[in-house]
Amino acid sequence: MKILKFGGSSVANAENIKKVVSIINQPEYNNTIVVVSAFAGVTDQLISTGTQAAKGDEVYKETLLALEKKHIDAAKNLLPVATQSSCLSSIKQQFNELEDICEGVFRLGELSNRTQDRIISFGELLSSKIIAAYLQSMHIANEWIDSRELIKTNSNFGFATVDFALTNQLIVEKIKTAANSLFIVPGFIASDTEKHTTTLGRGGSDYTASIYAAALDAQDLEIWTDVTGMMTADPRWVPNARTIQHISYREAMELSHFGAKVIYPPTIQPAMQKGISIWVKNTFAPAEAGTLIEHHVAGNDRSEIITGISSINQVSLLSLEGSGMIGIPGFSKRLFEALASQHVNVILITQSSSEHSICVAVNATEAHKAKAIVDETFDIELQSGKLDPLKVENGLSIIALVGDKMQSHPGIAGKMFSALGRNGINIRAIAQGSSERNISAVVSFNDIKKAVNVLHEAFFETSYKQLNVFIIGAGNVGGKLIEQIKKQQDYLLQHLNLQLRITGIANSKQVLLNEEGGIDLSNWKEALQKSSAIPLNDLVETIINKNLRNSVFVDVTANAQVASVYDKLLAKSISVVACNKIAASSSYENYKKLKSLAKEFNAPYLFETNVGASLPVIGTLNDLIRSGDQVNKIQAVLSGTLNFVFNHYDGKKLFAEVVKDAQNEGYTEPDPRLDLGGTDVMRKIMILAREAGEKIEMEDISNNGFLPASCFNGSVADFYTEMEKHEAHFKALYEAAAKENCKLKFVASFENGKASVGLQHIPTNSDFYHLYGKDNIVLFYTQRYPEQPLVVKGAGAGADVTASGIFADIIRVAR
Ligand code: ADP
Ligand code: ASP
Ligand code: MG
Repeated sequence: MKILKFGGSSVANAENIKKVVSIINQPEYNNTIVVVSAFAGVTDQLISTGTQAAKGDEVYKETLLALEKKHIDAAKNLLPVATQSSCLSSIKQQFNELEDICEGVFRLGELSNRTQDRIISFGELLSSKIIAAYLQSMHIANEWIDSRELIKTNSNFGFATVDFALTNQLIVEKIKTAANSLFIVPGFIASDTEKHTTTLGRGGSDYTASIYAAALDAQDLEIWTDVTGMMTADPRWVPNARTIQHISYREAMELSHFGAKVIYPPTIQPAMQKGISIWVKNTFAPAEAGTLIEHHVAGNDRSEIITGISSINQVSLLSLEGSGMIGIPGFSKRLFEALASQHVNVILITQSSSEHSICVAVNATEAHKAKAIVDETFDIELQSGKLDPLKVENGLSIIALVGDKMQSHPGIAGKMFSALGRNGINIRAIAQGSSERNISAVVSFNDIKKAVNVLHEAFFETSYKQLNVFIIGAGNVGGKLIEQIKKQQDYLLQHLNLQLRITGIANSKQVLLNEEGGIDLSNWKEALQKSSAIPLNDLVETIINKNLRNSVFVDVTANAQVASVYDKLLAKSISVVACNKIAASSSYENYKKLKSLAKEFNAPYLFETNVGASLPVIGTLNDLIRSGDQVNKIQAVLSGTLNFVFNHYDGKKLFAEVVKDAQNEGYTEPDPRLDLGGTDVMRKIMILAREAGEKIEMEDISNNGFLPASCFNGSVADFYTEMEKHEAHFKALYEAAAKENCKLKFVASFENGKASVGLQHIPTNSDFYHLYGKDNIVLFYTQRYPEQPLVVKGAGAGADVTASGIFADIIRVAR
């Protein structure tokens, strides 16, 4: 004999029921008990009906009408008109009964657990009867059995305990003497010795099926649901979750106990005792094998150490603390007895070795009850100050890693906690069962979805890592960056196992967000244009609240306000990649703060493009310092703009016109005076000096500039007029250099803790002489390179190279 159970979504409507029947109607199931749940959502709606009625809210009548319609519609849809009437009148009759009960509740203004069980039992009664009638109409012989007559329990309504001796006997007698071989039975419901209807706990139809299976020594038990088997994580949260083909009873028990809703936890026990295999299968993909749960030696058929990850979303942490606990036995016994007396289910326990505190996690709904009973139990100790009142923390979740193979396999906890830590997920409490089948951690509810994904990525998706990138600044450089990412996405996935998703793009006017699959980059410009604005601070909040794993904030602006939000992001473990120089060249204090936040929260803050666009200047310097080298001197030409200008200016074309050309080519800051006045170069040499370990500010840098003072007054347009007025000055500078057979270069240097920038005459034998176009060059003189410097040279400006430098930083974050 086989036992099949079809859950709520499998029997959500007539169309699904037809799928169910096509499964049942196969030769292998000719000797079968089919356990069915209520139609999807019906139990919840019945509970609402009861509570509405108890509150005196007449709306319960409408809820009932809607429920009645749902069932009538299903029956009408399934049954040929000729055979409808008896089924329809049975539905009508049941709703009359239900109405009477609810009216009683309405009048009394009170809903007992017993009455609630009576009300919700109609969900399974209705669904099972409709399905039985449908089978009958198809001439598939079957017998409907009322589970309440066979499954006997105590009177703990809502969560009744089964009397197995009696239940087994009743089931065996009934099935042995029956004329039929196909039975349709309601799940979830049972009755007590007084014949009052009881229920087995939410999700209890799975348990019903297991009870039948164990009583009858069934060949196997099949749980048919809306997903293909037990999966490595809840597929609603983790799109990459995959079916676990084979799992032990104990692993399945741990996973379901820690929230894998696909199987109701008590289900495993009866089947396990009798060694009955449990299959978890998909009603909507019946050909797929699903999951086999049985006694199972770990490691035979799976390479992963971890079998699955599950979570319980709303728990509270209760801590009992106080000096009075030390060395005195019996405290924990009293605590657990107190909780048990109120049927409070303890999910997780930790006790520190100092014995100063015991910490337990319970379902959030039970925290209030728990606090009352524990404080009452320890009243004397509270009065005498030996114990503190029970501390209750809400808004928490539990995440659990489960796997038989974890036993004596070191490093799992380390990997778990470092993966969570890297993503800024704070762990409130930890527990590992002595069976070593489970490691669980309590984290904030706000982090749970991210935590499940982070751990799934760490333990199962060895195939790739996901990076969630938010780009602010979608102009010239930002636009190029997005285009480069678009082109490279497939390559990154295939060759670096990196799934790079852009989840947000913002410019100064609009913000385009998409966390689900990432933004579709084929038409991001149009989509961005159609989006609306979000103030910067709200945007930062949004990014933080989205709480996506491996998040990177990419600043492609030159905006001071944007640079001022990095600290908030880093403190939430969101990495920052900036081509914006403002933060790294702000006060040393702020620069240092950002660097330490990055370290503390494991979130890189990278700004390679601050100096020399994509040239590996900062990276090279970092490598030198990290490997123990020391910088003696840095000499550099760091302004692509100034290089361009002095390479093109020969006294023939106006200086102002050459500057204009540079601006048109996109080589200058929006205000070219930042480049020509030397500020930009000062910032760059300061950043290099800081990265070399020097505590240095802008005021410490001397600037031997070449612009006449009047150039700094007024607007950018005024600047151009002013330059024209001073053409003779620029020409004189050029000619003085030319006379010595030198070129003009704006050079930055750092030596003995002092930095300076200024225009210099460069002779033909200098490293700087042959520097063309917008090239940059940096010479590092260090202890290892005392005479012949380490040289980094190449294109140091331009939107494309800058974008590719930012891109490289983003990839670095993923490493
Ligand atoms: P039914 O109505 O068939 O009893 P449930 O809703 O009770 O179905 O359970 C199935 C659901 O369990 C799935 O839709 C899935 O979202 C959820 N679930 C949670 N964790 C897991 C897991 N590890 N594997 C499979 N499903 C899971
Ligand atoms: N219908 C019940 C519930 O929703 C039992 C079940 O679906 O297993 O909890
Ligand atoms: Mg279920």
